[in-house]
Amino acid sequence: MISRTDLRGPALASLDARGLRDTLPRAGFDVEAALDVVRPICEQVQHHGADALRDLSERFDKVRPEALRVPAAVLTAALEQLDPDIRAALTEATRRARAVHEDQRRTDTTTQVAPGGTVTERWVPVDRVGLYVPGGVAVLASSVVMNVVPAQAAAVPSLAVASPPQRSNTGVFAGYPDPTILAACELLGVDEVYAVGGAQAIAMFTYGAREDDGTVVCEPVSLVTGPGNIYVVAAKRLLKGLIGIDSEAGPTEIAILADDSADPEHVAADLISQAEHDNLAAAVLVTDSDQLATQVEAALERRVAATKHAERIRTSLGGAQSSIVLVDTIEDGLRVVDAYAAEHLEIQTRDAAAVAARVHNAGAIFVGAYAPVSLGDYAAGSNHVLPTGGCACHSSGLSVQSFLRGIHVIDYTQDALRDVASTVTTLAAAEDLPAHGEAVTARFDADV
Ligand code: NAD
Repeated sequence: MISRTDLRGPALASLDARGLRDTLPRAGFDVEAALDVVRPICEQVQHHGADALRDLSERFDKVRPEALRVPAAVLTAALEQLDPDIRAALTEATRRARAVHEDQRRTDTTTQVAPGGTVTERWVPVDRVGLYVPGGVAVLASSVVMNVVPAQAAAVPSLAVASPPQRSNTGVFAGYPDPTILAACELLGVDEVYAVGGAQAIAMFTYGAREDDGTVVCEPVSLVTGPGNIYVVAAKRLLKGLIGIDSEAGPTEIAILADDSADPEHVAADLISQAEHDNLAAAVLVTDSDQLATQVEAALERRVAATKHAERIRTSLGGAQSSIVLVDTIEDGLRVVDAYAAEHLEIQTRDAAAVAARVHNAGAIFVGAYAPVSLGDYAAGSNHVLPTGGCACHSSGLSVQSFLRGIHVIDYTQDALRDVASTVTTLAAAEDLPAHGEAVTARFDADV
C-alpha cells in the first residue's frame, strides 16, 4: 500500500541538500501543473464577476448559488440549529486558539539610533482580508477558527470568509456553504460570508465581484489566507503580488520521524489521519528501524481496511507523495526531515523533545507519543493553516503576524541629521547617486 525509499548506506551521504529534496516523495500533480487549470478560471472571474462565480460553482460544485453572499438570517439559523456538542467543541477550540494567538500580538518598538534620531516599528493590521475555508472533500469548520482567531487578534477591521456551496444542502441552506461552517462564522462574529469555492474564491477576493448591473457583490481584499486544495494554492501563487497571501497551505502532509521506541499503531493511525484529507495528501515515515517499518505496513493494511474513507486513504498512501523512508540513524533522519520540510512533523523517538529541538524546517512539530497531528488540526491551540510542498523551509504557519505589516517610522532632528550627513553623502557618492546626498546637504546649505 505504501512504497519504501531506501536511503541507508552510501545513498544518503552522496546527496547534497537539493539532491536529497528531489529524491524525497512528492505528488506528481503539483502547484505548477495546476497553474494552467486556474489561470482561465481567474481570468473569467476578473472579466465576468458574479456571473462567472455562479457558472464556475455550477461546473465544479454542481450547484448554482443565486445569492453569492450568505444572508444574515441564514448565518443565524445555522448557529441556532448547530448540534450543542459541536458548538461546545468549536468554543473550546476557539478558546485555546485565542490563548495562543493573543500571546502573539506585537507591540510597537522605538529604537534610539543616535541622539535625536529614532526608528519606530509600528505594527498595523491589513485593512481587509479574505479567509478561505475548504469545503470540497471535507467541510472544515475548524478552518474558520484557524483563520478568524488570528485575524481578530491582529485587529483586522474587515474580514470576509469564502467556502464552496454544498449541493447536499437543503431548505434555508440550499446554495450556501456547509451549515457548520456558517455556524462557526456566526459564533465568531463574522457576518460577511460568500458561497464561493476553489480558485474562483481567491480570484473574487483579488478583483472583487460585481453583478452585470454594476452592483457590488464583494469588495476586493488586500490579503488572502487559509488552506485549500491544489487549485486554491495555485490561484494564490498566480495572484500573489496583486494580493498578499499567507503561505501555500495546500494538500496536507505528515512526516513522522520514529525509532523503534514508537508504537506502530500510533504511527499508522497518524499517517492515515492525514491521508484522509485528499488523494494528494502525503504521508511519510522516516525511520532507522526496519522492524518498525514492517509493523507499520501491517498496521496500515489492517487500519485502512476498517476506516471510513479507505479508498481515498489508499490513493494517498499509494501515491508518489507517500513512502516509508529508511535511514541508518535518527541523525540521518533529521537530515531527511529538514530537506523534506513537512507541513506537519511528528517526532516519535526516544528523547523526542531533544530531537525536535534540532529540527529546522517544518510547519509545526508534534513532540512525543501524545501529540498527534489531529490534536493540532482541531484543539491544540496552535494554528492548522501551515505551509506545504517544501515551503516550510521559508514560510510560517498562519499567525497574528500574517495579518500585520511592520511600518518603520523615521524621526530625526536637525542635529541628528547633521551628525549622520557625511555617512549619507559618502554612500550616495559611492553609488553615483549624488542627488541623494544633495537632499541632505540642501538642508544645511546655510551652515556653509
Ligand atoms: P477546497 O475547498 O480547497 O476545494 C474545493 C474546490 O476546488 C471546489 O469548490 C472547486 O471549485 C475546486 N475544484 C475541484 N476540482 C477542480 C478542478 N478539477 N479544477 C478546478 N477547480 C476544482 O476543498 P478540498 O478539495 O476538500 O481541499 C481541502 C484541502 O485543504 C485538502 O487538500 C487538505 O489537505 C487541505 N488542507 C490544508 C491545510 C494546510 O494548512 N496546509 C489545512 C487544512 C486542509
